[in-house]
Amino acid sequence: MSYDPNNIFAKILRGEIPCDKVYEDDHVLAFNDIEPQAPNHVLVIPKGAYCSFDDFSAKASAEEIASYIRAIGKIGRDLGLSSCGYRILSNIGQDANQEVPHLHVHLVGGKRLGRMLSSA
Ligand code: 5GP
Repeated sequence: MSYDPNNIFAKILRGEIPCDKVYEDDHVLAFNDIEPQAPNHVLVIPKGAYCSFDDFSAKASAEEIASYIRAIGKIGRDLGLSSCGYRILSNIGQDANQEVPHLHVHLVGGKRLGRMLSSA
């Protein structure tokens, strides 16, 4: 899949669409999901043009990968979720219903989340 520079998160990164920013560094932006599924629902994205975790894990630099992983953990801690727990997940492609083709991790917490998947 080639990267679509007109996807909604690319527009957020370019400042063309507003977001409710939670965290930013040289490689990462995080903002609240527009349709939160829990009291805390943050989307964490790399600033680089990566379609998905599959694309990112194959092509991103070690610095980008380290920054991304560290940012996700820091956001969880900064939100006060370390002790009670939270969930991170990333949808990749068609079978996972990925809607926005720019890598994003959902960081969800603030309530008991239940099982990750319902029975098949
Ligand atoms: P996906 O299904 O691709 O894993 O998740 C996409 C997420 O992006 C959804 O949870 C959806 O609510 C969120 N989303 C879609 N458009 C926007 C937007 O314009 N702003 C924000 N903050 N979130 C968005």
